[in-house]
Amino acid sequence: MDYLPVCLNLKARRAVVVGGGHVAARKVDTLLRAGARVTVVAPRLMPQLEQRAAAGDLEHLPAEFAPAQLNGAALVIAATDVAEVNIAVSRSAQQRQIPVNVVDQPALSSFIFPAIVDRSPLVVAVSSAGSSPVLARRVRAQIEALLPARLGALARFMRERRELVRRALGTLARRGFWERMAGGAAASRVLAGDEAAAAEIFARELLNSRLKGACGSGLGEVYLIGAGPGDPDLLTLRALQLLQQADVVLYDRLVPDALLERARRDAQRIFVGKEPGEHSQQARIHELLVELARQGKRVARLKGGDPFVFGRGGEELEVLATHGIPCLVVPGITAALGAAASAGIPLTHRRLSHSVTFLSGHDALDDSLDWRALAHAGQTVVFYMAVAQLPRIVARLRAAGAAADLPAALIEQATLPGQRVLRSDLARVAELAGRERICSPALLIVGEVAGFAGTGTSVAAPGTATVPAEALG
Ligand code: SAH
Repeated sequence: MDYLPVCLNLKARRAVVVGGGHVAARKVDTLLRAGARVTVVAPRLMPQLEQRAAAGDLEHLPAEFAPAQLNGAALVIAATDVAEVNIAVSRSAQQRQIPVNVVDQPALSSFIFPAIVDRSPLVVAVSSAGSSPVLARRVRAQIEALLPARLGALARFMRERRELVRRALGTLARRGFWERMAGGAAASRVLAGDEAAAAEIFARELLNSRLKGACGSGLGEVYLIGAGPGDPDLLTLRALQLLQQADVVLYDRLVPDALLERARRDAQRIFVGKEPGEHSQQARIHELLVELARQGKRVARLKGGDPFVFGRGGEELEVLATHGIPCLVVPGITAALGAAASAGIPLTHRRLSHSVTFLSGHDALDDSLDWRALAHAGQTVVFYMAVAQLPRIVARLRAAGAAADLPAALIEQATLPGQRVLRSDLARVAELAGRERICSPALLIVGEVAGFAGTGTSVAAPGTATVPAEALG
């Protein structure tokens, strides 16, 4: 180990920063966050530091550096662009046995700053001992993405209850209890921003643990997770975090293997996709969810796109509520949004479209739908599950007055390596789709925006084959 990482308590202690520019301002910011009393030595301050001095957040010594300014300091930072000054600060601090950092000059420093992930009171420090700050920052960014934004709130939530738990449980039971809490339903509630629910679950768990001794009950819970349109990088951070703590993953047909790989290695994976025409499957899913959660498992129910857009998430939520099983819903990027981005089709556009409607292909069978309203110009209509009903959708829209040359695009396997985009118009889209053998999953986007050329660069997944209508005859 080249350096020993330690966590320094700077609360109300004097820290001196020599320099008044941008780099100094960044260091001042870090020191203030750690509660230090900051003195900045610099003939002039950049505006942000000036404001902080005016607000009384820091003390400003408008002078050249002089060694006596370091007296009584717990920490010194040199952040000037004058080499001799930096050397003088380093020397004076080291003579006084005060830890000193000269920005970007490890040879002049007795300590260096790590890259910090701040979820106070929980902090993560990453250092490459100066060998590659870029690498350290990359690692930091990866950790940032993994750690929930409200981890600090969770640490505080637990701190506030430490004493309570200490009084309620014996040493042995306590450890198991905290371990269950850190990855359980109360924690996921805090991380989702619902502390009231978390407090309730926590109290229930604590009572259970007292009644049952060391084993505790370990309430299970369900995460209804939107997995996005297919590209694993389009998972939300929360989806990823919960996937990595779930004991069991229930997934359906739209969830590709690459995405399942983001789940915990040892998690049990259960396929619950529906075969066409199979109606009993949804009931089985409900039973499974309840059964697994009752066993105390953390169950991730992964659904393509968003759970609440043609995803039957509402029904699953209802069943869980009926059985008193805690459930968290994590939104996902719905297929329409993924497909639109991939194909470079804006769903609304100041000139072309003022609204967007999501429909299901099955709606083509629905006589009560207002097809005339859907056929009006100046809007976008997106059909999910569009392939089987394509001719009927087109016929309905045409009969309701939509123009034959109204642009229409079909996006198959949006955001996935096999993505195809077929641009056409209403009159020809069904025939072209047949000829190109467009298969499910695919979306139909109807409206002026479907012909949008934009800058000509669609943000497409690698391996995308764009099938221009012209090429299809
Ligand atoms: N809950 C999902 C929709 C489920 S319905 C969501 O929010 O996206 C299933 C339909 O979604 C498919 O028939 C297809 O129309 C659409 N779909 C899902 N993933 C898709 C993808 N990668 N590319 C194109 N369409 C997709």
